[in-house]
Amino acid sequence: MSAAIDIRHLTKRFGALTVLDDISLQIEDGEFVVFLGPSGCGKSTLLRMIAGLEGVDEGEIALGDRRIDPLPPGERGVAMVFQSYALYPHMTVRQNMAFGLENVRTPKDEIERRTDAAAKILEIDHLLDRKPQMLSGGQRQRVAIGRAIVKEPKAFLFDEPLSNLDAALRGRTRLELAQLHQRLGATMIFVTHDQVEAMTLADRIVVMHDRRIEQIGTPMEVYQRPATKFVAGFVGSPA
Ligand code: ADP
Ligand code: MG
Repeated sequence: MSAAIDIRHLTKRFGALTVLDDISLQIEDGEFVVFLGPSGCGKSTLLRMIAGLEGVDEGEIALGDRRIDPLPPGERGVAMVFQSYALYPHMTVRQNMAFGLENVRTPKDEIERRTDAAAKILEIDHLLDRKPQMLSGGQRQRVAIGRAIVKEPKAFLFDEPLSNLDAALRGRTRLELAQLHQRLGATMIFVTHDQVEAMTLADRIVVMHDRRIEQIGTPMEVYQRPATKFVAGFVGSPA
């Protein structure tokens, strides 16, 4: 079961530096939303606040009908996929995928059922007994996504998950992510500084710049009707 995300008047400071200033945003259940903006604009910080890895200074975050910003990360019902895959080298793929579930005392046969199902979806079922160093970059990426899927989260959070892959693999993985979204029907937030990734993946793009949201719209809307000069320049001229 996935859920909508409601972000209300979120502000974040690091010491004297305000990195997010009064951010409000509604994400629909099952929507694929991309946070797009230049390096340092606060994309990761916003995602990490939703995941519970950064505290909230002002404002609220709700997932479905539940306010989650006071909850610890493990109880929020979201799962994050990092840019560095953060796999444990001494564990097999199966153990890596199951690790987060053992922490929350999921029964063994349930862990096995979810791991097998996720491995099948990601087409890594033949790799379950291997260690991460035996895998290619693309395969490691899938294991990292598998680790999120087995948690059966209400929303998936991706922080630049493709930026460590070479260009060809990035394109292919992008396509697979789009298919995964269709197949799971899950709410997904995807952070990137790459305009092409945003244009091809998003139902809606949230363009961020200088602590604020510049525009929220479909890829067509932000491309054809940019709300600000910044959006016109950033979306209109791929890096
Ligand atoms: P993005 O992901 O868009 O590149 P970040 O969210 O990582 O941006 O960072 C936004 C701003 O917050 C940057 O100026 C960054 O230097 C600052 N920042 C991020 N994390 C911390 C931290 N833990 N302490 C102090 N400043 C931070
Ligand atoms: Mg970042």
